[in-house]
Amino acid sequence: MNIHEHEARDILAGYGIAFPPGRVAATPDEARTIAQELGGKVVVKAQILAGGRGKAGGVKLAHSPQEAWEHAGALLGSSIKASTVRKVLVAQAVTIVKEFYIGAVLDRANKAVTLMASSMGGVDIEEVASTSPESVIRVTADPLLGLADYQARELAYGVGCSKAQSDAFASVAHSLFRAFVERDCSLVEINPLAVTDSDEFVALDSKMVIDDNAAWRQAPLFALRDLTEEDPAETKARELGVSYIKLDGNVGCLVNGAGLAMATMDAIKLQGGEPANFLDIGGGASAESVVGALRIVLMDPGVRAVFINIFGGITRCDAVAQGLVDFLRETGTDIPVIARLTGTNGPEGRRILEAAGIGITETMSEAAAAAVKVAQEPRTVTT
Ligand code: GDP
Ligand code: MN
Repeated sequence: MNIHEHEARDILAGYGIAFPPGRVAATPDEARTIAQELGGKVVVKAQILAGGRGKAGGVKLAHSPQEAWEHAGALLGSSIKASTVRKVLVAQAVTIVKEFYIGAVLDRANKAVTLMASSMGGVDIEEVASTSPESVIRVTADPLLGLADYQARELAYGVGCSKAQSDAFASVAHSLFRAFVERDCSLVEINPLAVTDSDEFVALDSKMVIDDNAAWRQAPLFALRDLTEEDPAETKARELGVSYIKLDGNVGCLVNGAGLAMATMDAIKLQGGEPANFLDIGGGASAESVVGALRIVLMDPGVRAVFINIFGGITRCDAVAQGLVDFLRETGTDIPVIARLTGTNGPEGRRILEAAGIGITETMSEAAAAAVKVAQEPRTVTT
């Protein structure tokens, strides 16, 4: 789960990281009041979950409270990077002497937390990593010992901090690491971490991604989830307790079990197709859960065909088939559905689908081929 900049900032400030003073506003008048309180120049920043707001016109400098009011008015309600701006952060502007990057990520390969820093802050770190990989310094914290002080210093010296600056930089690294661990993050980033004209480090932008598996432990954080910025299909899937992953192709995949999901996507790719998504309803799928899941898969506008691949163990295929037939009759969707049902009561299930005119095949590769083929056929548009 991704949280907004102003929320990440409040959390990280609690770990001792310095931010320019500022507050969030939902109206231009509030933005003006905050700017008045802060005095001097302020930045008005669109609070959306996407990065790269600066380039997209979502970060504006205001020289007066009146200008802050104008920028807030222009930003609030506008659409930036496909998100509607509902709030802006108004923060004191600082004079930047240098911009660094510092971030912590869950490093699955090393089964640890890796911290990264770069002297080329302010820009997208992926871009820096590909164009100037030598400028990205990495240290991997021992999962039992945590981030050692020498590692924090290695980052500081690696990005070219002076001896005087390195204490402050190392302290930011330690704070970031503590926040990462205590808040169950998969990513924490400060970009830019700026050096000001008074030679202080201040965080001008921060991002926090919290591991969804920690929802039970981080309840107050998860209350911050912004549903307005989430794909409605993902929200629905979470409510139903199923795993839904959005992809870029056009074949919707509904399966039971993670292994079967992988095999299904391989089968689609082998036939020259691309999955639009995959939805795993898990092991003991019921007829109701198949129907609920199909509803979610059909919410994806990219779906041109649905491939339902169910292995009935505890699940009875005839119950699933009947559920599907009822649902399709009720909704009258024009998206073709191809099913492969096997396992308990497989033949009965297939008979029910066949009788209702739903595409059914014996094997998984036949079903994949059929789904890929119909997904590629031009759709007849009814007016
Ligand atoms: P992002 O584009 O979504 O990453 O948004 P940022 O908050 O990082 O803002 C983009 C850029 O605006 C930063 O990299 C800075 O260069 C600049 N910026 C942000 N805050 C200030 C500020 O207080 N003063 C100045 N001079 N520039 C700022
Ligand atoms: Mn940034």
